[in-house]
Amino acid sequence: MKEALFFNKIDKNVVQCLLCPHNCIISDGKSGICGARKNINGTLYTLNYGVVEGLSLDPIEKKPLYHYYPGKIILSVGTLGCNLKCPFCQNSHLSRFFDDYKQEVKPNLFPEELLLYFLKNQKSYAFDIFPGIAYTYSEPLVWYEFLVETAEIFKKNGYKNILVTNGYVEKEPLSKLLPFIDAANVDLKAFTEENYRKLCGGLKPVQNFIETLYKHNIHIEVTTLVVTDFNDNLSEIESIAKWISSLDKKIPFHLSRYFPSYLYQKRPTDLGFLDDAEKIAREYLYYVYKGNVLASHNTYCPECGNLLIQRRGYDIHLSGIKEDNRCNKCSRKNDIIL
Ligand code: SF4
Ligand code: SF4
Repeated sequence: MKEALFFNKIDKNVVQCLLCPHNCIISDGKSGICGARKNINGTLYTLNYGVVEGLSLDPIEKKPLYHYYPGKIILSVGTLGCNLKCPFCQNSHLSRFFDDYKQEVKPNLFPEELLLYFLKNQKSYAFDIFPGIAYTYSEPLVWYEFLVETAEIFKKNGYKNILVTNGYVEKEPLSKLLPFIDAANVDLKAFTEENYRKLCGGLKPVQNFIETLYKHNIHIEVTTLVVTDFNDNLSEIESIAKWISSLDKKIPFHLSRYFPSYLYQKRPTDLGFLDDAEKIAREYLYYVYKGNVLASHNTYCPECGNLLIQRRGYDIHLSGIKEDNRCNKCSRKNDIIL
Protein backbone atom coordinates (compact mmCIF):
# COMPACT_ATOMS: atom_id res chain seq x y z
CA MET A 1 0.00 0.00 0.00
CA LYS A 2 1.31 3.42 -0.87
CA GLU A 3 -0.06 6.92 -0.47
CA ALA A 4 -1.84 7.90 -3.65
CA LEU A 5 -1.04 10.85 -5.88
CA PHE A 6 -3.76 13.25 -6.99
CA PHE A 7 -6.27 13.62 -4.19
CA ASN A 8 -7.64 16.41 -2.03
CA LYS A 9 -8.90 16.36 1.48
CA ILE A 10 -12.35 17.92 1.27
CA ASP A 11 -13.63 17.42 4.80
CA LYS A 12 -12.54 15.78 8.03
CA ASN A 13 -11.42 12.32 6.86
CA VAL A 14 -13.17 12.68 3.48
CA VAL A 15 -11.06 12.80 0.32
CA GLN A 16 -11.63 13.36 -3.36
CA CYS A 17 -9.55 11.37 -5.84
CA LEU A 18 -8.48 13.38 -8.88
CA LEU A 19 -6.86 10.62 -10.93
CA CYS A 20 -9.74 9.95 -13.29
CA PRO A 21 -12.84 11.89 -14.31
CA HIS A 22 -15.00 10.07 -11.78
CA ASN A 23 -13.41 12.33 -9.15
CA CYS A 24 -14.74 9.96 -6.48
CA ILE A 25 -15.55 11.46 -3.11
CA ILE A 26 -14.46 8.79 -0.65
CA SER A 27 -15.26 8.64 3.03
CA ASP A 28 -13.06 7.00 5.64
CA GLY A 29 -12.68 3.25 5.15
CA LYS A 30 -14.21 3.28 1.65
CA SER A 31 -12.76 2.87 -1.85
CA GLY A 32 -13.46 4.61 -5.14
CA ILE A 33 -15.24 3.13 -8.16
CA CYS A 34 -12.07 1.36 -9.33
CA GLY A 35 -11.72 -0.35 -5.97
CA ALA A 36 -7.98 0.26 -6.10
CA ARG A 37 -7.82 3.47 -4.06
CA LYS A 38 -8.95 3.55 -0.46
CA ASN A 39 -9.38 6.27 2.12
CA ILE A 40 -7.69 5.29 5.38
CA ASN A 41 -8.04 7.88 8.14
CA GLY A 42 -8.35 10.75 5.66
CA THR A 43 -5.46 9.75 3.38
CA LEU A 44 -5.94 8.10 0.01
CA TYR A 45 -3.88 4.95 -0.58
CA THR A 46 -3.33 2.90 -3.68
CA LEU A 47 -4.04 -0.76 -2.91
CA ASN A 48 -2.48 -2.24 -6.05
CA TYR A 49 1.01 -0.71 -5.86
CA GLY A 50 3.44 -3.55 -6.63
CA VAL A 51 0.58 -6.00 -7.08
CA VAL A 52 1.39 -7.74 -10.35
CA GLU A 53 -1.34 -10.18 -11.26
CA GLY A 54 -0.51 -10.84 -14.90
CA LEU A 55 3.03 -11.31 -16.21
CA SER A 56 3.88 -12.90 -19.53
CA LEU A 57 5.82 -12.64 -22.75
CA ASP A 58 3.40 -11.94 -25.57
CA PRO A 59 3.59 -11.16 -29.26
CA ILE A 60 3.06 -7.42 -29.59
CA GLU A 61 0.25 -8.16 -32.06
CA LYS A 62 -1.75 -9.55 -29.14
CA LYS A 63 -2.08 -6.09 -27.50
CA PRO A 64 -3.13 -5.42 -30.37
CA LEU A 65 -0.40 -3.30 -31.92
CA TYR A 66 0.13 -4.01 -35.63
CA HIS A 67 2.25 -1.03 -36.67
CA TYR A 68 4.71 -0.93 -33.80
CA TYR A 69 7.67 -3.34 -33.83
CA PRO A 70 5.71 -6.01 -35.72
CA GLY A 71 6.69 -9.57 -34.88
CA LYS A 72 8.41 -8.73 -31.60
CA ILE A 73 7.80 -10.21 -28.19
CA ILE A 74 6.93 -7.92 -25.33
CA LEU A 75 6.76 -8.30 -21.58
CA SER A 76 3.16 -7.74 -20.49
CA VAL A 77 2.11 -6.88 -16.97
CA GLY A 78 -1.17 -6.12 -15.31
CA THR A 79 -2.76 -5.52 -11.95
CA LEU A 80 -6.15 -5.42 -10.25
CA GLY A 81 -8.87 -2.81 -10.65
CA CYS A 82 -10.48 -0.71 -13.35
CA ASN A 83 -12.35 2.58 -13.38
CA LEU A 84 -14.94 1.43 -15.94
CA LYS A 85 -17.48 -1.31 -15.42
CA CYS A 86 -17.94 -2.99 -18.78
CA PRO A 87 -20.44 -5.82 -18.26
CA PHE A 88 -18.67 -7.75 -21.05
CA CYS A 89 -15.17 -7.39 -19.57
CA GLN A 90 -12.99 -10.33 -20.55
CA ASN A 91 -10.69 -9.86 -17.57
CA SER A 92 -13.31 -9.27 -14.88
CA HIS A 93 -11.38 -11.46 -12.41
CA LEU A 94 -8.78 -8.65 -12.50
CA SER A 95 -10.81 -5.53 -13.26
CA ARG A 96 -13.57 -6.15 -10.71
CA PHE A 97 -11.40 -7.96 -8.18
CA PHE A 98 -11.98 -5.46 -5.39
CA ASP A 99 -15.81 -5.58 -5.80
CA ASP A 100 -16.18 -9.27 -6.42
CA TYR A 101 -13.62 -10.90 -4.14
CA LYS A 102 -13.05 -8.44 -1.31
CA GLN A 103 -9.70 -10.00 -0.40
CA GLU A 104 -6.61 -8.21 0.82
CA VAL A 105 -3.78 -7.99 -1.66
CA LYS A 106 -0.06 -7.69 -1.07
CA PRO A 107 2.69 -6.33 -3.30
CA ASN A 108 4.72 -9.04 -5.01
CA LEU A 109 6.96 -7.13 -7.43
CA PHE A 110 8.45 -3.64 -7.17
CA PRO A 111 9.46 -1.53 -10.19
CA GLU A 112 13.23 -2.31 -9.95
CA GLU A 113 12.45 -6.02 -9.60
CA LEU A 114 10.29 -5.87 -12.69
CA LEU A 115 13.19 -4.39 -14.65
CA LEU A 116 15.49 -7.19 -13.38
CA TYR A 117 12.90 -9.78 -14.41
CA PHE A 118 12.71 -8.16 -17.83
CA LEU A 119 16.50 -8.11 -18.26
CA LYS A 120 16.84 -11.74 -17.18
CA ASN A 121 14.23 -12.82 -19.71
CA GLN A 122 15.75 -10.67 -22.36
CA LYS A 123 19.07 -12.48 -21.95
CA SER A 124 17.69 -15.98 -21.89
CA TYR A 125 15.42 -15.28 -24.87
CA ALA A 126 18.16 -13.72 -27.02
CA PHE A 127 16.25 -10.54 -26.78
CA ASP A 128 17.65 -7.80 -28.88
CA ILE A 129 14.16 -8.27 -30.32
CA PHE A 130 12.55 -7.13 -27.11
CA PRO A 131 11.41 -3.51 -27.27
CA GLY A 132 9.95 -3.03 -23.83
CA ILE A 133 6.99 -3.52 -21.57
CA ALA A 134 3.22 -3.30 -21.99
CA TYR A 135 0.87 -2.41 -19.15
CA THR A 136 -2.29 -4.30 -19.94
CA TYR A 137 -4.91 -6.92 -18.86
CA SER A 138 -6.95 -4.65 -16.54
CA GLU A 139 -6.61 -0.83 -16.48
CA PRO A 140 -3.05 0.46 -16.06
CA LEU A 141 -4.16 4.03 -15.34
CA VAL A 142 -5.58 2.99 -11.96
CA TRP A 143 -2.12 1.55 -11.22
CA TYR A 144 -0.81 5.07 -11.63
CA GLU A 145 1.87 5.31 -8.93
CA PHE A 146 3.41 1.96 -9.89
CA LEU A 147 3.01 2.68 -13.58
CA VAL A 148 4.83 6.02 -13.46
CA GLU A 149 7.72 4.67 -11.38
CA THR A 150 8.13 1.57 -13.53
CA ALA A 151 7.77 3.45 -16.80
CA GLU A 152 10.42 5.94 -15.70
CA ILE A 153 12.87 3.16 -14.81
CA PHE A 154 12.30 1.34 -18.09
CA LYS A 155 12.65 4.56 -20.06
CA LYS A 156 15.92 5.46 -18.30
CA ASN A 157 17.28 2.06 -19.28
CA GLY A 158 16.37 2.62 -22.92
CA TYR A 159 13.21 0.52 -23.17
CA LYS A 160 9.75 1.33 -24.44
CA ASN A 161 6.56 1.68 -22.42
CA ILE A 162 3.25 0.73 -23.95
CA LEU A 163 -0.21 1.34 -22.51
CA VAL A 164 -3.20 -0.81 -23.32
CA THR A 165 -5.86 1.37 -21.81
CA ASN A 166 -9.40 2.70 -21.71
CA GLY A 167 -7.94 6.23 -21.73
CA TYR A 168 -10.17 7.44 -18.88
CA VAL A 169 -7.90 9.71 -16.88
CA GLU A 170 -7.66 13.35 -15.83
CA LYS A 171 -5.44 15.79 -17.73
CA GLU A 172 -2.87 16.49 -15.01
CA PRO A 173 -1.92 12.87 -14.25
CA LEU A 174 -1.85 12.20 -17.96
CA SER A 175 0.55 15.05 -18.64
CA LYS A 176 2.94 13.72 -15.96
CA LEU A 177 2.84 10.25 -17.46
CA LEU A 178 3.31 11.25 -21.10
CA PRO A 179 7.11 11.70 -21.11
CA PHE A 180 7.53 7.99 -20.38
CA ILE A 181 5.02 6.56 -22.85
CA ASP A 182 5.99 5.47 -26.34
CA ALA A 183 2.90 3.75 -27.69
CA ALA A 184 -0.67 2.92 -26.77
CA ASN A 185 -3.60 0.90 -27.82
CA VAL A 186 -6.66 2.80 -26.66
CA ASP A 187 -10.10 1.27 -26.35
CA LEU A 188 -12.68 3.58 -27.83
CA LYS A 189 -15.67 1.65 -26.67
CA ALA A 190 -18.47 3.68 -28.21
CA PHE A 191 -19.16 7.06 -29.73
CA THR A 192 -22.05 8.30 -27.64
CA GLU A 193 -22.06 9.58 -24.09
CA GLU A 194 -25.13 7.41 -23.53
CA ASN A 195 -23.25 4.22 -24.36
CA TYR A 196 -20.25 5.30 -22.30
CA ARG A 197 -22.56 5.91 -19.34
CA LYS A 198 -23.62 2.25 -19.55
CA LEU A 199 -19.97 1.38 -18.89
CA CYS A 200 -19.71 3.90 -16.08
CA GLY A 201 -17.52 6.23 -18.12
CA GLY A 202 -17.62 9.13 -20.56
CA LEU A 203 -16.62 9.67 -24.18
CA LYS A 204 -15.07 13.13 -24.00
CA PRO A 205 -12.14 12.27 -21.68
CA VAL A 206 -11.24 9.31 -23.89
CA GLN A 207 -11.27 11.52 -26.99
CA ASN A 208 -9.11 13.99 -25.12
CA PHE A 209 -6.72 11.20 -24.15
CA ILE A 210 -6.33 10.03 -27.76
CA GLU A 211 -5.89 13.59 -29.06
CA THR A 212 -3.27 14.33 -26.40
CA LEU A 213 -1.25 11.22 -27.20
CA TYR A 214 -1.46 12.03 -30.88
CA LYS A 215 -0.24 15.60 -30.34
CA HIS A 216 2.71 14.23 -28.36
CA ASN A 217 3.73 11.93 -31.22
CA ILE A 218 3.01 8.81 -29.24
CA HIS A 219 2.23 5.87 -31.49
CA ILE A 220 -1.51 5.11 -31.20
CA GLU A 221 -3.74 2.33 -32.35
CA VAL A 222 -7.45 2.34 -31.51
CA THR A 223 -9.59 -0.68 -30.71
CA THR A 224 -13.36 -0.92 -30.64
CA LEU A 225 -14.90 -4.11 -29.34
CA VAL A 226 -18.06 -4.46 -31.40
CA VAL A 227 -20.64 -5.72 -28.93
CA THR A 228 -24.02 -7.17 -29.81
CA ASP A 229 -26.90 -4.80 -28.99
CA PHE A 230 -24.48 -2.24 -27.55
CA ASN A 231 -22.50 -0.52 -30.31
CA ASP A 232 -23.19 -2.81 -33.28
CA ASN A 233 -24.69 -0.15 -35.49
CA LEU A 234 -22.96 1.15 -38.57
CA SER A 235 -23.54 4.81 -37.80
CA GLU A 236 -21.64 4.51 -34.51
CA ILE A 237 -18.75 2.64 -36.16
CA GLU A 238 -18.71 5.19 -38.97
CA SER A 239 -18.61 8.07 -36.47
CA ILE A 240 -15.64 6.48 -34.71
CA ALA A 241 -13.74 5.92 -37.96
CA LYS A 242 -14.55 9.44 -39.15
CA TRP A 243 -13.34 10.95 -35.91
CA ILE A 244 -10.09 8.94 -35.92
CA SER A 245 -9.48 10.03 -39.52
CA SER A 246 -9.95 13.66 -38.49
CA LEU A 247 -6.78 13.14 -36.42
CA ASP A 248 -4.94 11.00 -38.93
CA LYS A 249 -6.01 8.47 -41.57
CA LYS A 250 -2.87 6.48 -40.78
CA ILE A 251 -3.98 5.48 -37.26
CA PRO A 252 -4.65 1.72 -37.25
CA PHE A 253 -8.17 0.81 -36.18
CA HIS A 254 -9.00 -2.62 -34.76
CA LEU A 255 -12.58 -3.82 -34.83
CA SER A 256 -12.74 -6.77 -32.47
CA ARG A 257 -15.41 -9.40 -32.28
CA TYR A 258 -17.09 -9.72 -28.92
CA PHE A 259 -17.85 -13.07 -27.25
CA PRO A 260 -20.12 -13.49 -24.21
CA SER A 261 -18.27 -12.77 -21.01
CA TYR A 262 -18.83 -11.86 -17.36
CA LEU A 263 -22.30 -10.26 -16.95
CA TYR A 264 -23.07 -9.93 -20.68
CA GLN A 265 -24.28 -13.09 -22.37
CA LYS A 266 -25.71 -11.94 -25.72
CA ARG A 267 -24.65 -13.80 -28.86
CA PRO A 268 -21.19 -13.07 -30.34
CA THR A 269 -20.91 -10.21 -32.82
CA ASP A 270 -22.47 -11.04 -36.15
CA LEU A 271 -19.68 -11.75 -38.65
CA GLY A 272 -21.58 -10.11 -41.52
CA PHE A 273 -21.92 -6.97 -39.44
CA LEU A 274 -18.21 -6.98 -38.68
CA ASP A 275 -17.48 -7.17 -42.44
CA ASP A 276 -19.79 -4.21 -43.05
CA ALA A 277 -18.19 -2.29 -40.19
CA GLU A 278 -14.74 -2.94 -41.63
CA LYS A 279 -15.90 -1.76 -45.06
CA ILE A 280 -17.34 1.47 -43.75
CA ALA A 281 -14.27 2.19 -41.57
CA ARG A 282 -12.03 1.68 -44.60
CA GLU A 283 -13.78 4.61 -46.29
CA TYR A 284 -12.05 6.82 -43.73
CA LEU A 285 -8.91 5.02 -42.63
CA TYR A 286 -5.95 3.33 -44.33
CA TYR A 287 -5.60 0.46 -41.89
CA VAL A 288 -8.59 -1.40 -40.47
CA TYR A 289 -8.20 -4.83 -38.91
CA LYS A 290 -10.77 -7.29 -37.65
CA GLY A 291 -9.84 -8.93 -34.36
CA ASN A 292 -10.91 -12.20 -32.68
CA VAL A 293 -11.87 -13.67 -36.08
CA LEU A 294 -10.26 -15.88 -38.68
CA ALA A 295 -9.62 -13.28 -41.34
CA SER A 296 -6.78 -11.59 -43.15
CA HIS A 297 -4.75 -9.47 -40.76
CA ASN A 298 -2.31 -8.39 -43.42
CA THR A 299 -1.12 -4.84 -43.96
CA TYR A 300 -1.18 -3.43 -47.49
CA CYS A 301 0.42 -0.30 -48.85
CA PRO A 302 -2.26 2.39 -49.14
CA GLU A 303 -0.52 3.78 -52.23
CA CYS A 304 -0.06 0.71 -54.46
CA GLY A 305 -1.80 -2.17 -52.60
CA ASN A 306 1.44 -4.13 -52.15
CA LEU A 307 1.43 -6.68 -49.31
CA LEU A 308 3.67 -5.11 -46.67
CA ILE A 309 3.17 -7.38 -43.66
CA GLN A 310 1.80 -10.88 -43.87
CA ARG A 311 0.34 -12.17 -40.60
CA ARG A 312 -0.57 -15.83 -40.09
CA GLY A 313 -1.59 -15.96 -36.47
CA TYR A 314 1.47 -14.61 -34.74
CA ASP A 315 3.76 -15.64 -37.58
CA ILE A 316 4.77 -12.27 -39.04
CA HIS A 317 6.57 -11.62 -42.33
CA LEU A 318 7.63 -8.15 -43.39
CA SER A 319 7.51 -9.30 -46.97
CA GLY A 320 6.92 -5.99 -48.73
CA ILE A 321 9.12 -3.71 -46.62
CA LYS A 322 12.52 -2.51 -47.77
CA GLU A 323 15.38 -1.95 -45.31
CA ASP A 324 14.71 1.77 -45.30
CA ASN A 325 11.11 1.06 -44.17
CA ARG A 326 9.56 1.86 -47.53
CA CYS A 327 7.20 -0.19 -49.68
CA ASN A 328 9.32 -2.41 -51.93
CA LYS A 329 7.04 -1.73 -54.88
CA CYS A 330 6.23 1.99 -54.88
CA SER A 331 8.75 3.23 -52.24
CA ARG A 332 6.11 4.99 -50.18
CA LYS A 333 7.38 5.58 -46.62
CA ASN A 334 5.53 3.06 -44.44
CA ASP A 335 3.38 4.07 -41.46
CA ILE A 336 5.02 1.39 -39.36
CA ILE A 337 7.63 1.63 -36.62
CA LEU A 338 10.22 -1.14 -36.96
S1 SF4 B 1 -9.05 6.45 -9.97
FE1 SF4 B 1 -10.54 5.24 -8.84
S2 SF4 B 1 -10.85 6.33 -6.92
FE2 SF4 B 1 -9.84 7.73 -8.32
S3 SF4 B 1 -11.50 8.91 -9.27
FE3 SF4 B 1 -11.07 7.18 -10.63
S4 SF4 B 1 -12.43 5.53 -9.99
FE4 SF4 B 1 -12.41 7.06 -8.36
S1 SF4 C 1 -12.17 -0.95 -19.43
FE1 SF4 C 1 -11.30 -2.93 -20.00
S2 SF4 C 1 -10.58 -3.83 -18.07
FE2 SF4 C 1 -11.98 -2.16 -17.57
S3 SF4 C 1 -13.96 -3.14 -17.28
FE3 SF4 C 1 -13.85 -2.41 -19.40
S4 SF4 C 1 -13.09 -4.16 -20.57
FE4 SF4 C 1 -12.66 -4.59 -18.40
